[in-house]
Amino acid sequence: MFMATILLAGCQPESKELKLTKFIDKHVARVKPLAKELNLAYWQAANSGKEEDYDKSSSLELKIRKIYSNKGDFAFLKNMKESGQIKDQLLSRQLLVLYNSYLPNQIEPKLTKQLVELGTQIEKNFSTFRGKIGVQELSDNQIREILKTETNSAKRKEAWEASKQVGEVVAKDLIKLVKLRNEAARKVGFDNFHTMRLTLGQQDVKEVDKIFQELYELTNDPFAKVKLDLDEILSEKYRLDIMGVMPWHYHDPFFQETPLVLEVNLDKYYEGKDVVKLAREFFYGIDLPADTIIARSDLFEREGKNPHAFSSDIDKEGDVRILCNVKNNEQWMETLLHELGHAVYDKNHDPKVPYILREPAHSFTTEAIAMMFGRQSRNAGWMQEMLGLSASQKTEIEKVCSQYAKMKQLIFARWAMVMYEFEKQLYANPDQDLNGLWWDLVDKYQLVNKPAGRNKPDWAAKIHFTIAPCYYHNYAMGELLASQLDNYISRNILKEENPSYAGEKKIGSFLKARVFEPSAVYYWNHMIERATGEKLTAKYFVEQFVK
Ligand SMILES: [Zn+2]
Repeated sequence: MFMATILLAGCQPESKELKLTKFIDKHVARVKPLAKELNLAYWQAANSGKEEDYDKSSSLELKIRKIYSNKGDFAFLKNMKESGQIKDQLLSRQLLVLYNSYLPNQIEPKLTKQLVELGTQIEKNFSTFRGKIGVQELSDNQIREILKTETNSAKRKEAWEASKQVGEVVAKDLIKLVKLRNEAARKVGFDNFHTMRLTLGQQDVKEVDKIFQELYELTNDPFAKVKLDLDEILSEKYRLDIMGVMPWHYHDPFFQETPLVLEVNLDKYYEGKDVVKLAREFFYGIDLPADTIIARSDLFEREGKNPHAFSSDIDKEGDVRILCNVKNNEQWMETLLHELGHAVYDKNHDPKVPYILREPAHSFTTEAIAMMFGRQSRNAGWMQEMLGLSASQKTEIEKVCSQYAKMKQLIFARWAMVMYEFEKQLYANPDQDLNGLWWDLVDKYQLVNKPAGRNKPDWAAKIHFTIAPCYYHNYAMGELLASQLDNYISRNILKEENPSYAGEKKIGSFLKARVFEPSAVYYWNHMIERATGEKLTAKYFVEQFVK
């Protein structure tokens, strides 16, 4: 009897879980060295700026994409997913991540080619188009400069109109692209492209809707007040009736940034300081040492080098680096803290977590960590401790910065609502009156007056619809999570109102245990709930910035 059981077990077909495990092992063995090679190639290209280095990086990218377009592999994963027999939590999370990576690469090559070509065409139109005032062509920077400095309303209006002209040039193609994206999404089983993008990013439209609805309700009154104050300042500045403040009076073509009505320049506090040293000391002090990261990083300006900043987890085995172009000013202090925030997240993944899950829970969760640390460069308490400032200097910084942060965060949050809602409706029905929809949303969320009789594709002038579709909401969600984590750390870890993070080792232990080490083992909202006791909520963002 005993023997028989053993024999029977030996003859059983392989379980689905075992098959999947073997598949994953084989997949990781192929992808892991290529991914490392790609990250190194991209790093090299960003540092050298050389064409051949960029070519190497894109050819590796194609090689990896080819793996993910394999039809047989996708059919295998689909079968696993639909079988309901993958019960092990780690396996089923890996299956989901793999499935979501394979799926968008299953779109037929002809359609993919059309999507890429049309997208590139529109992007090219964006980069070559110049807005005009009369016959004079203007660069983007020139238009922005006018919107910042010009005091004559008629001239401001012309510049604002010039900033929207690109919309008329690209709108038709963009609607065509939206329909093509929808077609591709329908072929792989989704209602439309927006639903596909969110689902593949492990976001449920209803769940994101709920978070945005909460943010909308909680910011309605405070935003209306801030907006009224702002309109008062602007109407005085431009000698208008307050009802006469129009979109061209806000210093930014989309009113997504804070108009220059508050003087906040903290550079004098960072002048003559070594911001790299400050960042190193800070992260060391909170038990998230960044010394090995900094040692591998490329921090200073050089000819040909990428002028921006990013963090890269080269191999998911501890080689994490950042690229910056540091100067000793406030903006670079913020950027350094931001990029090192991404980097310490990656550096502290648990090496025992399977390779496929050894990454942040979501792109917006790593953004949240980066934002939370980046905000410190303007935090009066942090500045006092790190820069050795006096109590009166601290008070002075606090006064300007809190007012500025409130305005900045509210303006951005309301703008992100326009973007999220518009994109959702754009993909749901690209044949509707999009020009009208855009202004309805701008009016509803940003409280900005529509110019009388305006019926132009002003929405299409926002390049994100073309190059980074259905992603914008993640910036807002990152800000919300940054505030939620900050609140949890203050109340439950440090047990202080408005603490300075400097020197608080408990921050590192908390983040490592609850956020960094779990990597992508849990669904993002589950991770957030495990870390803070609540799912993602707008509450703490509002509490922090709307006092
Ligand atoms: Zn970032």
